[in-house]
Order: sequence, then structure tokens, then C-alpha cells
Amino acid sequence: MDKPKIVILGSGYGGIITTKKLEKLLKSGEADVTLINKHSYHYITTQLHKIGAGTAQDNKIALPIEELIDIAKIKFKKATVSSLDFDQNQVLLDNGEAISYDYLVVALGFQVETFGIPGINEHAFKIRSFRSSKAIYHHIQKQFTMYQEDHDPARLTFAVAGAGFTGIEMVGELVEKLPKLAKHHNIPFDKIQIINIEASPNLLPGFEPSAVSYTTELLNKMGVKVMTSTKILECNENYVKVDSGEIATKTLIWSCGVRGHQLFEEAGLKTTRGKMEVDKFLRIPTLKNVFCVGDNALFMQDEKTPLPPTAQVALQQGPICAENIVAAIRGTELKPFHYRHQGSVASISDYFAVGKVGKFVIKGKFAAFMKQIIEAKYLFCLGGPTLIIKQLVTGPISSAKVTAKQGQ
Ligand code: FAD
Repeated sequence: MDKPKIVILGSGYGGIITTKKLEKLLKSGEADVTLINKHSYHYITTQLHKIGAGTAQDNKIALPIEELIDIAKIKFKKATVSSLDFDQNQVLLDNGEAISYDYLVVALGFQVETFGIPGINEHAFKIRSFRSSKAIYHHIQKQFTMYQEDHDPARLTFAVAGAGFTGIEMVGELVEKLPKLAKHHNIPFDKIQIINIEASPNLLPGFEPSAVSYTTELLNKMGVKVMTSTKILECNENYVKVDSGEIATKTLIWSCGVRGHQLFEEAGLKTTRGKMEVDKFLRIPTLKNVFCVGDNALFMQDEKTPLPPTAQVALQQGPICAENIVAAIRGTELKPFHYRHQGSVASISDYFAVGKVGKFVIKGKFAAFMKQIIEAKYLFCLGGPTLIIKQLVTGPISSAKVTAKQGQ
């Protein structure tokens, strides 16, 4: 009998952790496993804001996939998935290839939600992928260089839309990096303005009130202009139009929400903003051999509460998804997924952070330290102590071949 074919799409948090768990669980020759990803590297999505601001080395954030998986057990294919054919049990790639599967894991992550606001798609910068984040940094550098020629103040006005988790983390990195760039280009720092625009009345919606007031005060002290209760109506390459007027800026970094990858919708399945509802075993209810994890999945904790799109959720779903595929192959019982919230911590530069762990609101330098522990824990899951030592002590691991250009 042919060996069952398992195909995993996407090697972000959900995809890589599912793959690594399958690597451990499957007996030799029990199944063929193929991991397909757009790039030859796995990027640490939760650190992309650092790439956007130029505060982290590329090769600490983009790690070559073949160094993270056992290539004797897992076949890795670098390709972009262009469509899903559930009738034929096939995945179609941009190179025209069709890959058949017996079991499919879709872990293609998120796409940026623009809410149809004019100009956002074309002109705003997005923290979507390694490349799109790198494009932000290149653009920022260019603004400093161009300012020396035309002295246009719009070049030194940097607007971040959204004061949720990602927006605040991005602002924090800009606060850390821009003074260094100003000094490098001999530009007085008081010429630079960082603006954070948020439609809600407060920063960090959903966080504890004490965490919100701490963050607001800290950003004010850092010189960030915080514009809450402000709606963005339109943008182009020279300005952002908000309900209270126009802001002259050549940089709008958009971090106002995400939706699931569009491939399920394109395959004719019903989704909620691109997110595919999964059952308690992480399968698509109508397609029992198709699993979905991470930001692409809609997992309902109860009738009304979907799990949020976080790395934490993807990391907990990956191992259960792998266990359930192995159980399906072996004809044993599948395991329901239960989410355990371990807290969340948003960084505000390398030196401060804010969040909640268990019952406790944490702030400041201690929270920044906790954030580093969380990131180190993830590195441990990916590559054990060797990867942590390589990253933290001996510096960058061997460099991923990454070209920076706008887009995905
Ligand atoms: P992803 O990590 O996005 O991986 C998807 C993968 O699919 C990528 O490798 C991509 O290249 C690949 N892919 C996409 N399309 C295709 C295609 N057509 N063909 C082939 N491959 C494709 N969450 C937290 O819990 N804590 C945090 O502190 C936190 N901070 C964040 C900070 C930032 C700046 C951002 C952007 C997000 C943050 N998140 C955080 C959210 C978290 O990163 C996501 O929830 C998590 O990455 C979801 O994992 P995933 O595997 O579903 O998708």
C-alpha cells in the first residue's frame, strides 16, 4: 500500500511546529511529509517590527528552514501555493505543479486587513512578512537621505496606524532607532516626529486600564504624538487624511488588523474574514482530511468567542494537529484542542514592555525581560538550546538568503 502523503502549507509558527511534531511522532516510513513555503526561511513573525525599524539583524529573525527541520524525514519545497483543490485532494503551486495529499495542513497565516480605506493598499507600509518589513526600513533610510536634499518635513514624520499590540511594538522600535538614524545623518532629533493614530479612545484595546495608562504616559514621555479617537479616511504617498485634518507624511505604517489567507475563500469555502472554522480536532468539518492551524483558522472556544490570531494559539495548535494526523493514519482516537492562555506582553523598544501574565499586570523593564524569556522559549521549541546559544551568545546563525523588496 502507498504511504499516506501529508502536506503542510506555510512554515510560520503553526506550520513549522506541526512539522517538527510530525517529525517526532511518525515512525520511519510511516508517511511522506512535505512542507511547502513561499521562502526558504522561517521568519519569527512576532519580531517583524524590529526588521521594519532596523533594530534587529536579519539573520536572527529569518532562519533557514532546512536548518530547523530534519531533511531526512521531511521534504521541503520552496513554492507559493496558488490554489487548493479539495475535490482532487491537490494543492496547486505557482510553478504549475500539482501536489497530491491524503492529509493537508493549511497554516498560511494572516493577510493585512485594509477595510477598503482608499490608498492603504497602494501606499501604506505593512508588517506582513520579512520582505514587507524590510521594505519599511529601506524606505525610512531613504527618507533621511532625501531630507538632506529637499528638507521636506514630511520625510521625517513617521505615522503608525493602529495602537494594538503590533502598532505599539512598531512605535517602540521607531523610538529606539530614529534618534540613531538622525545622528548618523546629522539631523537634529527635534525635526523628527513619530505619530501613533488609533480609532479607539485608548491605546492597546483589550489590555488592563493600568497597562494602558502606563503605555500612554511612556509614549508621551518618549515624545510620540498619540492620536486616539482618530479615524484614518485616506492616504497617499504624501499625506494621511484623518477625521480632524491632514498629516503630511511620506510614511504610514499600517497595523490595524488582520484577516485569514484568501485561499479558502477562493476555493469556494465559507469563511469569516478569510478564517476557516475548524472543529475541536482542528479539522475543517466538511473535509475531514484537511486541518487548519494558526491565524488562518477560526477556532471557537464557545459559541461566541473565537480564539485571537496570536503566535501562542498557533504554537499550541501545531502539536495537537500533528497528533491528530498521526491518530487518523493509525486509526486511533483524535484529541480535542484546548487552549491555555499564558498571558501577553507587548514590547515598547528593547527596554520597556507591558502586559499580563497570569493575574498580574507587568510593566517596564521586568516586562521587557519577560518578553525576552517568551522569545527564547520559542527559539527553544524551534531549535533547542543550540539555537538559543547560536542566537544569544555567538551571534547570528548562518544567513538566510533574503532579498528585500516591497511585497510578500
Ligand atoms: P505566519 O506566522 O504568518 O506564517 C504563515 C506562513 O505562510 C509564512 O511563512 C508565509 O511566508 C507562508 N505563506 C503565506 N502565503 C503563502 C503561499 N501562498 N504559499 C506558500 N507559503 C505561504 N502573537 C503573539 O502571541 N505574541 C506576540 O508578541 C505577537 N507579536 C506580533 C508582532 C508582530 C509585528 C506581528 C506581525 C504579529 C505578532 N503576533 C504576536 C501574531 C503572530 O505573529 C501570529 O499570530 C502568528 O505568526 C500566526 O502564525 P501562523 O503560522 O498562523 O502564520
